[in-house]
Amino acid sequence: MEKQAGTVSALSAAAMGEAWARIRGRLREEVGEVEYRTWLRQMTLVGIEGDEAIVVLPTRFLRDWVRSHYGDRLRALWQQENGAVRRVDVRFAPERAADDAPDAEAPRANGLAEPLAGKPAAAARAAAADARGDWSAPLDPRFTFDTFVVGKPNEFAHACARRVAEKPASPGFNPLFLYGGVGLGKTHLMHAVAWAIRNGEPARNVAYMSAEKFMYRFIAALRSQSTMEFKESLRSVDVLMVDDLQFLIGKDNTQEEFFHTFNALVDAGKQIIVSADKSPSDLSGLEDRLRTRLGCGMVADIHATTYELRLSILQAKATAAGIDVPKSVIEFLAHKITSNVRELEGALNRLIAHANLFGRAVTLDGAQEVLHDILRAHDRRVTIEEIQRKVAEHYNIRLTDMSSARRARAVARPRQVAMYLAKQLTSRSLPEIGRRFGNRDHTTVMHAVSRIAELMQADAAFAEDVELLRRMLET
Ligand code: ADP
Ligand code: MG
Repeated sequence: MEKQAGTVSALSAAAMGEAWARIRGRLREEVGEVEYRTWLRQMTLVGIEGDEAIVVLPTRFLRDWVRSHYGDRLRALWQQENGAVRRVDVRFAPERAADDAPDAEAPRANGLAEPLAGKPAAAARAAAADARGDWSAPLDPRFTFDTFVVGKPNEFAHACARRVAEKPASPGFNPLFLYGGVGLGKTHLMHAVAWAIRNGEPARNVAYMSAEKFMYRFIAALRSQSTMEFKESLRSVDVLMVDDLQFLIGKDNTQEEFFHTFNALVDAGKQIIVSADKSPSDLSGLEDRLRTRLGCGMVADIHATTYELRLSILQAKATAAGIDVPKSVIEFLAHKITSNVRELEGALNRLIAHANLFGRAVTLDGAQEVLHDILRAHDRRVTIEEIQRKVAEHYNIRLTDMSSARRARAVARPRQVAMYLAKQLTSRSLPEIGRRFGNRDHTTVMHAVSRIAELMQADAAFAEDVELLRRMLET
């Protein structure tokens, strides 16, 4: 069989084999395991002739399928690996007897993509190839700049991401450190940058991965004694994105490796983008020098959503889904689901699914019913501290009076209101609530709850007051 390609220009056979392993790995991640095994696993790279990569498949049917469904993608991936490859020729070549004395330099990549098949030596080689091979996790096609809704809480992070996508590695923006709470759009922004760069300059090697995956790869490389390849391949990326860096806290070896990779890349003028749930200075447990370096580019935080941003996001997503969601429902959701965008999206998706499933319009009543459990779970998240704070503020008393022994009506009544609300809005037991109010007995709480209920019955203005507090706490 053909071991070397005809006129490989700049690529050595070894480099070609590695590139091919990376391409296969990336395809596998993009299309998923099942699809990969069905259509792509049997691809063999024969070589590169001129500006054309030649890939063969063992049946005509597979050849046609791969050509029509994956031809463009294969070409784009090859271009990314090596700009000199401009075309990919997918050919039919009946299965030949396996070449049992594989030359390590040979560009045959079958074994590379099947780590567990074959002999130990092949497995070790495969693990090494895996470690140095495909870096990037798949990108979510929905996470682009087009679908990212910009508002006050995220406008700065968004602007930084845009800037980096337009001009990677510009001074002052490297590294770009994005941080914020869960579900606020960090991953979305990172993918958006990756898409923008990949679409604009396919030859740029953009690698996106979670910190967890980074660690997993590193450990796999250690095991297969291929850390050199690991480092080399990582350093060959142009843009490295590591998501959820807080995962590396306490993982000292991996941190160390990340630190070196990081330095090497920045020194080589490559762009780094990192996300975490806290700012670099608050990431205690990360090595000091790493924190310092992380903080020395651009640090951008994504704040908790505002009501306005939630409205715009819901509106945008409803429009994108092509479903007519009444304004009242959108406002209701934006009011009720304040935790993060992911939950907001989840709630909306559920409404949309229901509407589609039953062919019914989305209504406020329907929404309340469909989202019953989400809303309740959300309500339960109100803490006793928040209740005490809001109630104290409302009645203009000191927070400490919530637990003090003072019995003056001006203090005792608000305290009872707070106990009542704690019972209504949290899942805490009476004894627990009592403890949080200056170690009071559960019978005191019980008394407070029934007393407030009575007063609400008797006094409409008071009832309205308490209801107002409840609404403020619930949203
Ligand atoms: P994080 O990585 O910060 O935990 P994600 O990026 O995964 O959060 O975002 C969670 C979900 O919310 C995703 O589906 C994402 O598309 C969506 N999302 C977050 N922020 C926005 C936004 N500003 N506009 C549109 N969708 C958003
Ligand atoms: Mg994320």
